[in-house]
Amino acid sequence: MSTETIRVESLSKRFSRERVLDGIDLTVDEGEFCVVVGPSGCGKSTLLKCIAGLEEFEDGDVYLRTRPAAELPVEERDIGFVFQEFEETLFPHKTVAENVAFGLEQQATDYDDAEVEGRIDDMLELLSIEETRDSRPSELSGGQQQRVEVARQFVRECDIMLLDDPLADLDYKLQKRMELEIRRLHERLGSTFIYVTHNQEQALTLADTLVVMNRGVIEQVGSPADVYSNPETAFVGRFVGDSN
Ligand code: ADP
Repeated sequence: MSTETIRVESLSKRFSRERVLDGIDLTVDEGEFCVVVGPSGCGKSTLLKCIAGLEEFEDGDVYLRTRPAAELPVEERDIGFVFQEFEETLFPHKTVAENVAFGLEQQATDYDDAEVEGRIDDMLELLSIEETRDSRPSELSGGQQQRVEVARQFVRECDIMLLDDPLADLDYKLQKRMELEIRRLHERLGSTFIYVTHNQEQALTLADTLVVMNRGVIEQVGSPADVYSNPETAFVGRFVGDSN
């Protein structure tokens, strides 16, 4: 039996007069890797932020582990959020290890120093950036910086991970490598993922469940194979690639 971790019901959101989300219904089960794909500006980031409690919305409800999210203080939501703009989130004066440690400081844990160090090393190794441990972000490449940001969020082993197009600014080869790493992290943690991207190929590669969005609505939800071979709308056919 699958257990629901995230449920979004009839979620609508406007920015001034523009309706950015228009009646979104979405359920994500425990441990699922859900990918939301759609063109730039269709509302993917806003949806993630509404789920995380970083954005207000006018209508609808968000439930986390069947509890109304509105009743959960942000620190009890147990959500990690990886942003696309990693340059803005890393501390320039801290080393890589200190930046990752900051992820752990953000939550109440009873790890002793040795455990903290162990978890940091483990994460850096998983993401193949052990050798950058004592460097500052400015000494790293864009790909390495994004790995530090991923490590900082994943070290907390949150129950829910929200990733907002984290590989968009990386070159193709790096994207491919990091896709594998992110899948591996997902398997290792067993957390529930919602991963947002505008990149169809990445979406088809990563997803257990694919959610195709356009102009603030969900056009189709299904397995990548199903969405790819049986698009339910003309938009999905064009956007994901109609094999028929
Ligand atoms: P996506 O993640 O799919 O690229 P976004 O959720 O970022 O889409 O944006 C959806 C729409 O909402 C866009 O038209 C964008 O311009 C608008 N928008 C996003 N954030 C804001 C904001 N803080 N203020 C006003 N409009 C915004």
